[in-house]
Amino acid sequence: MKIGVLAIQGDFAEHIVMLKRLGVETCEVRLPTALNGLNGLIIPGGESTTIGKLSVDFGLMEPLRTFSQEHAVWGTCAGAIFLSKDARRNQPLLGVMDITVVRNAFGRQVDSFEADLTIDEVGGEGLYHAVFIRAPIIEAVQASARVLSRLPDGRIVAARQGKLLATSFHPELTRDTRFHEFFLALAK
Ligand code: GLN
Repeated sequence: MKIGVLAIQGDFAEHIVMLKRLGVETCEVRLPTALNGLNGLIIPGGESTTIGKLSVDFGLMEPLRTFSQEHAVWGTCAGAIFLSKDARRNQPLLGVMDITVVRNAFGRQVDSFEADLTIDEVGGEGLYHAVFIRAPIIEAVQASARVLSRLPDGRIVAARQGKLLATSFHPELTRDTRFHEFFLALAK
């Protein structure tokens, strides 16, 4: 099992640490050729505009779209925005997940927060402690995309479409490995 992490901007190092804790072989992806032989890919949090622009510059857009058709891909926060079909503004998006997102939906950096979520599909004991940093909301899921988790007020913060996952929050910033384990099961 070898999982890549898109490593052009954002908190890719934290995802690598998490994957190593789970005993998985990892690869920092900066060039299209690095996708060869991977079982799955994580797109980290950061700035979705920067991740998008650099992906265009590095010739990654089409290789990432092709990879997403057959493999597990998980976007956290900015990564979720990058996977979406619609971010309600003009910026480079992979457009592989049938979700509409609203960027910075909770306000500015100082409005970052943590919340305990129920995520039935991810399983395990207890609530899932989630960290939101200038996070997007998944406003709507379309086609075969499904809601994985909502905040108590009903807003969608995690979605799945086949082997594609989008989370508004950052499991790589906690010590809870359940979400990464769930992703590895999809990548198998
Ligand atoms: N606000 C960032 C964006 O819109 C996402 C923040 C994050 O990834 N923590 O791209």
